[in-house]
Amino acid sequence: MKRRSFLYQGALASMVPSFRGAAWLRNLFAEYQMRPLRENVGVFTESGGTILWYVTEDHIAVVDTQFPDPAAHLIAEIKKMQDRPIDLLINTHHHGDHTSGNISFKDLAAKLVAHENSKANQQRVAEENGKMDQQWLPTETFTTNWETSLGDENIQMYYFGPGHTDGDAMIHFTNANIVHMGDLVFNRRFPYIDKSAGASISNWISVLDNALATFDRETLFVFGHSGENYDITGKKDELQAMQDYLSALLSFMEKEIAAGKSKEEIAKVTEIPGAPEWKGGGIGRSIDAAWTELVEKK
Ligand SMILES: [Zn+2]
Ligand SMILES: [Zn+2]
Repeated sequence: MKRRSFLYQGALASMVPSFRGAAWLRNLFAEYQMRPLRENVGVFTESGGTILWYVTEDHIAVVDTQFPDPAAHLIAEIKKMQDRPIDLLINTHHHGDHTSGNISFKDLAAKLVAHENSKANQQRVAEENGKMDQQWLPTETFTTNWETSLGDENIQMYYFGPGHTDGDAMIHFTNANIVHMGDLVFNRRFPYIDKSAGASISNWISVLDNALATFDRETLFVFGHSGENYDITGKKDELQAMQDYLSALLSFMEKEIAAGKSKEEIAKVTEIPGAPEWKGGGIGRSIDAAWTELVEKK
């Protein structure tokens, strides 16, 4: 469906030279989705990590920003609901598919909050790429916990140590009982494990233990990414499944390394034994990261 509408758009664009300027026509083929979940909280998806929004008459909060173009689409959709400033912007972690759109909120959002390591990583990556002018950095950071009230919502942030990076926050909207997990859950899709930013597979497992102990059976979780035919939201079962994947990855790698195999030999597998639901490209990223952790002890 998505592909067909894209092709159709391409065909139309070549027939109508002014197509790209016709906003109303472009909107007919919008590739993004605004999806309400519960209690004024919903998700936005287009390209990159899932965005969470909270919009009421008097308050607006947004978690993550994808890229400048999707951020502009989200801002336009929020404006249709409530035309007022954004009280609070939050980043789950520093990766570009979650923070490149920060810049689109620079003049709209009162503040931008993230874990202190997330800010340091955003700055480091932007400097390395010579893109400091395109990155709006967090204006406020936290170390283990952060909390604020916004209308009928209480928003609590948690940091349980390194996992997908060394700066992954969980953001709990307690009234709606919805938690944005950032990229701590790739729902049945091979995860990116960012060793260049302090990721730890073994600690990621205990980070998810902490999440399972902190939230309840009614909590609805939002995930950064999901595999084909899997949702970007879920319950504790999905956290458990992610944890099982990471455990299966480590024990598989330990066994292969003990058997004397090289990283290249191990990388010939197409799935991790015991975790057949994890599919798609990118199994090599898991194997690389586990090798770094187990062999190079980094
Ligand atoms: Zn991501
Ligand atoms: Zn990420």
